[in-house]
Amino acid sequence: MISSGGHGIFLQDFGLSLDNSHPKADVVFVSHAHADHLPRNRSCAAICSAPTLAFMRKRGYKGEALVLEWDTPTSLTSIRQHFGLSPSGVHSHSEATITLYPAGHILGSAMIYVESEDGALLYTGDVKTPASPATEGVQWPNHVDELIIEATFGLPIYKWKDTHNIQQEMLTFAQETLDAGETPLFLGYNLGKAQEILHLLQPLKHRKMIHGGGYPYCEIYENAGFTLGEVEPYDRATCEGAILVGPASVLSSGFASNVQRLRIAQCSGWAALGSRRAQNQLDRGFVLSDHLDFFALLEVCDMLKPRKIHITHSPTPDVVAHFLEERGHQAQFLELSMQEEEALDG
Ligand SMILES: [Zn+2]
Repeated sequence: MISSGGHGIFLQDFGLSLDNSHPKADVVFVSHAHADHLPRNRSCAAICSAPTLAFMRKRGYKGEALVLEWDTPTSLTSIRQHFGLSPSGVHSHSEATITLYPAGHILGSAMIYVESEDGALLYTGDVKTPASPATEGVQWPNHVDELIIEATFGLPIYKWKDTHNIQQEMLTFAQETLDAGETPLFLGYNLGKAQEILHLLQPLKHRKMIHGGGYPYCEIYENAGFTLGEVEPYDRATCEGAILVGPASVLSSGFASNVQRLRIAQCSGWAALGSRRAQNQLDRGFVLSDHLDFFALLEVCDMLKPRKIHITHSPTPDVVAHFLEERGHQAQFLELSMQEEEALDG
């Protein structure tokens, strides 16, 4: 049985919370390390991927955690035993097998696949297919009865271009800006998007600076094998002429305001709408999203053919449900009171 609300999603039969900690949960699955997917109850027992745990530790998470390897089925009983909890099958908890699959959203982002006698449930967390470049890729299980999937970009106006093409445009923008004696600033949130931007710009051998809030995560990307190049933390005194990367909030913080000529590029799915935010401050918009677009959402549902689809994180759930129902799916909105950390950057 699935319940949802202010504590995220709770699978009562398994005592398992999905992103955020329900008061009755014994174990919390953390799909990725964006702030509002982290357990509020810091003493909860968390299961997640290895990079997600590394990010969580950087973000001050001190609770217990068990890292699960990709595509490695693990019994809920053994997970509960790891945390010193009573085994499944007693005290009203059902047995289940848990498998994590990479979700392609940011490094470490995972989907959880819960198989039990009630069927197979897949919760995507935030997901991107085709996967974002600085991630482990994306992998889907073969059989899904119930799917809980995000639909942040659940309208047909959201159709992403191939990342390689966007990368070429970003490299050209950076090079032309530098050639003109100006300083490029790419806007992307501190965990995930900023490192993806650096990774995409890596072919440009030029010094790069990232906002101090994003710098500590870079080594986790490097350790996972994603080259980001020569990256320093932002230093106001020496930032002129470097390639700069920072979250959109820097636009109102005086970041690099000493630079003579700054050219600013937004890197976000929301750039598909045109520069609806900070319109006058932006020189370019690159539609670089870490979420699946509308058409990928439909494709995933058609591919998995779940009996039931629960849509989360959608500003337009009725539209998404309508399109899915037209294709023969049974879809409904699952309301969560979670605000994505990267909501403004997408
Ligand atoms: Zn996210």
